[in-house]
Amino acid sequence: MDFELNKKQKDIQKAAREFAQGELKDIARDCDLNETFPPELIRKAGELGFLGAFIPEQYGGAGLGFLEHAIILEEFWKVDPGLGQQLCSTTFGSEEFILFGTEEQKQKYLPPLASGEAMMGFAITEPDAGSDTSSASTSAQETEHGYIMNGSKTMIGNGTVGRYLVVFALSDPDNESRAQRHSIFVVETDTPGYEATRLHGKMGLRASDTASIFFSGLKLPKEALIGTRGKGFYQLMQFFDRSRAYVAAHGVGLAQGAMDLAIKHVKGRVQFGRKIASFQATQFKIAEMATRIELARTLTHKACSLLDKGKSDSKVTSMAKMNAARTAVEVVDEALQLHGGYGYFNDQDVERFYRAAKVLELYEGAKEIEKIIIGRHVLGRY
Ligand SMILES: Cc1cc2nc3c(=O)[nH]c(=O)nc-3n(C[C@H](O)[C@H](O)[C@H](O)COP(=O)(O)OP(=O)(O)OC[C@H]3O[C@@H](n4cnc5c(N)ncnc54)[C@H](O)[C@@H]3O)c2cc1C
Repeated sequence: MDFELNKKQKDIQKAAREFAQGELKDIARDCDLNETFPPELIRKAGELGFLGAFIPEQYGGAGLGFLEHAIILEEFWKVDPGLGQQLCSTTFGSEEFILFGTEEQKQKYLPPLASGEAMMGFAITEPDAGSDTSSASTSAQETEHGYIMNGSKTMIGNGTVGRYLVVFALSDPDNESRAQRHSIFVVETDTPGYEATRLHGKMGLRASDTASIFFSGLKLPKEALIGTRGKGFYQLMQFFDRSRAYVAAHGVGLAQGAMDLAIKHVKGRVQFGRKIASFQATQFKIAEMATRIELARTLTHKACSLLDKGKSDSKVTSMAKMNAARTAVEVVDEALQLHGGYGYFNDQDVERFYRAAKVLELYEGAKEIEKIIIGRHVLGRY
């Protein structure tokens, strides 16, 4: 057991930190206000190997692990959760190609993601199917030449800017097992029958693209199927085992960024003739925050390390995600508290971090869903 990052990982961390400071910091507030991000940012990140660091080298990626991916994302989220989200989501769902794709799919879809030339997303959620993913009703009906897709998805990252999406769809509605009715398909967004509408008014992560999607009679070739027909639900669960590990890194980054802002503020602000950093009440808050962040980071790195060793563990990953999300929500609340009334205004970065945090307890499995998974693993059969 080694709790130290190695030299290569420290170098990656430093490079990601410099990139975030140089490229994200100054534009973050405007991107949040205007609900936008500069497309060239994605390219720059791709050139430096920061996108989907786990994509193997033979498909244009950095060929690193989920731990390195988490280290990079922590640095991005530390500086700005909204742009951090956008940079992470560009390869969201690419795990399906890596784990289950054919050689042709890997060669076609992975290199443009790693270079930042294309973005993608994973369309799972539907208006009537959120936490209960296996009730998804977007259909993929088999035809002589492939499939026809009909239905709608909502709250989908990169729905309006992605070149392709992977879509969780009902292909075998008559199978008696709910877990064997779905398959995963790649959908190119320039295909007739694809329509996306950007959703405005998100509470946080406003720089990132989120959309509602409609499929009407969209024709898919047979080769659009990823993995095994009817096994989409199992493939989705394996995706979540990975994505939740790095969403945990989002929480660690957000919490660390919020604490850093609070530290800067309390070292400058004077009340009662003293820096507010000198009050023991302030020191206790910082001590609690720092300890919680350290714990969240340790569990996140453990989840990622297990993945990189091929020992995926749904329980540990869910624990890491649930804990990091709660840490982020509670730490940013204290960080804003330490800013006093100034923290309530959007010229203070902590206000943006505060709005961003809540989503971590909602997406990639709401915290209640993580608890269900953890509870089932710990309790076992009864
Ligand atoms: C900013 C943002 C980006 C997103 N990006 C994507 C994306 O890229 N792709 C995608 O597919 N989806 C995405 N989502 C959707 C997200 O994954 C869902 O919101 C999430 O899965 C919860 O589903 P729901 O919103 O329908 O809530 P519901 O499932 O309706 O849940 C509502 C509440 O009920 C609780 N609940 C539900 N079932 C149970 C149960 N069995 N036991 C106890 N409590 C339960 C939940 O925990 C929650 O608190 C995104 C969401 C947001 C906000």
